[in-house]
Amino acid sequence: MLTPQMIYEFVDKIVVHSPIKVDGEREQQVDIYLKFIGRFELPPTELTPEEEKRQATLKRHRIKSRERYRMIKAGEHKVGEPFRLTCKNCGKTFESMRSNAMFCGADCRRKFYKKERASKPLLTLRCQFCGSSFKAKRKNTKFCSDSCRHAANNLKRKNLKESEKQKSA
Ligand SMILES: [Zn+2]
Ligand SMILES: [Zn+2]
Repeated sequence: MLTPQMIYEFVDKIVVHSPIKVDGEREQQVDIYLKFIGRFELPPTELTPEEEKRQATLKRHRIKSRERYRMIKAGEHKVGEPFRLTCKNCGKTFESMRSNAMFCGADCRRKFYKKERASKPLLTLRCQFCGSSFKAKRKNTKFCSDSCRHAANNLKRKNLKESEKQKSA
């Protein structure tokens, strides 16, 4: 609760002006000067995962455009001319109209992502159909083999049909 004592703590001075008459009514102006209480920060609001993702994308864009601006300002880049960039795969310098291009060509892009895939460690997962452990690159892989995936899908379809039958019965 806000007590009068608390309010006085914030008040620096109060100036009471002499009363004046406005339209026959007596009016008195009172100025209240408040003490500087420091910058007031609003608590951060909780963001949903989608909002967080959006914020991250916006931040990335801001960094990119800042980088582009820096290059233009430093005279390293002229508007309308291609950017001089370094290929992430072969390390060669190449030119592109897009400041965020990563590869000198489609071939380098393909090779780079192929290497990246190959360097990813294999994860040990458990098959959701037969329960045996297996290795996969993607953590959301559900089944150890195509036959388990097919069998699981068939079972799901069968269960779905049966539950529909029960509903109509
Ligand atoms: Zn390259
Ligand atoms: Zn399996």
